[in-house]
Amino acid sequence: NNIITIKDGVKSYNNSFLALNNINLSIKKGEFVAIIGSSGAGKSTLLRSINAMNPLSSGSVIFNGEDICKVSGGKLRKVRREIGMIFQHYNLIERLSVVQNVLHGRLGYMSDFKGFFELYSENDKTKALNILKRLGLEEHCYKKASELSGGQKQRVGISRALAQNPKLILADEPIASLDPKSSEIVMETLKNICLEDNITCIVNLHQVEFAKNYATRIIGMKNGVIVFDNTPENLTEEI
Ligand code: ADP
Ligand code: ADP
Repeated sequence: NNIITIKDGVKSYNNSFLALNNINLSIKKGEFVAIIGSSGAGKSTLLRSINAMNPLSSGSVIFNGEDICKVSGGKLRKVRREIGMIFQHYNLIERLSVVQNVLHGRLGYMSDFKGFFELYSENDKTKALNILKRLGLEEHCYKKASELSGGQKQRVGISRALAQNPKLILADEPIASLDPKSSEIVMETLKNICLEDNITCIVNLHQVEFAKNYATRIIGMKNGVIVFDNTPENLTEEI
């Protein structure tokens, strides 16, 4: 019941060094994994290799039994729909409403937004509104994304990911731009999703305290290598 297995994962951006240096890793369904390590350790590179936004130079990433390094076209799009992404800077479309942002996640990028809201069924809209309500954003659904606070924007980011019905959520520094209180709310939200919906979460964090408080497993990285992989209770050394 592994959702992700990475075998001999290597990534080089140029010939001089390896951003990922022989990563071997399995993650079980329902785990809440925090990846920690200083800037440049390879956390983002690892996360982006998992949905093939930034494919490995060599090795394999098995998602639900399928090597995503070997799929392309429609099949890759299908795999990517099962993987929700959450970003440090939210990646919302600021001039669209909150609910439009959530619905937009299901369509992917479009060059022309004119009228796209009409493409959605009532069912889609009801579902988006229900997710926003669940995440405490009921009164903000029809505001523009630009009107929200950072913590609210990140919860919209999580709502957009949830609207895809993902099996896995990858969050790249989701709280790095937030104050401590908003950070707690966002981490609590991710933890609840993991527990209640059985969605596996992999979260890059540089704040070790948050990793200790929320994750079920901590993976420490340094110079493209995994240097720690254990439960939060066993984390003692500096990574
Ligand atoms: P982290 O997320 O832990 O800060 P990254 O995965 O962003 O680490 O980066 C790992 C290493 O790879 C760093 O040395 C970084 O400069 C380098 N790197 C990341 N992205 C690129 C890129 N697109 N081109 C070249 N080097 C990159
Ligand atoms: P964020 O602020 O979201 O963590 P970064 O500043 O780490 O983003 O990276 C922004 C973009 O630049 C990413 O696409 C990353 O892959 C790329 N990048 C990071 N480090 C390097 C590098 N050393 N050389 C080239 N591109 C890089």
